[in-house]
Amino acid sequence: MVRMMLRFDNEKVHEPVTSQVILEEKIPINIMSAYVNQQGGEILIDVESENAERLAKAFRKKGVTVDVPKLIEKDDLKCTNCGACVSLCPMNALIFNADKSVELNEAVCNGITCGLCVDACPVRAIRLLG
Ligand code: SF4
Ligand code: SF4
Repeated sequence: MVRMMLRFDNEKVHEPVTSQVILEEKIPINIMSAYVNQQGGEILIDVESENAERLAKAFRKKGVTVDVPKLIEKDDLKCTNCGACVSLCPMNALIFNADKSVELNEAVCNGITCGLCVDACPVRAIRLLG
């Protein structure tokens, strides 16, 4: 899954953009949170990884701003590449590189509802944002 933030300006918020994109692209989304009023709005969604790029392109084509929010932060200077977080991550967002360094893929992290790696890290190199 990839988590995306969709931002609608005061014009786009009056158009049925989200339902149009879902119907046209035939991509299901999971809405995690939504805040919309007459001035604009933000919708946080989850979408299957294989559909993420196509969905983002379709929303951008209709004038919606699409961001992949950063949910956790890894301090690479503190990280000792011990790997304790790698096996715990249910999303495979933490992986070993070929040189045995541990890399965080922020686009697939499910941080808001997870946070397992934060508690697992012996040197507190990972923290939840927000
Ligand atoms: S917060 Fe959860 S999903 Fe995100 S990197 Fe850590 S263990 Fe993986
Ligand atoms: S548990 Fe902490 S120190 Fe170990 S690899 Fe993960 S981030 Fe780095």
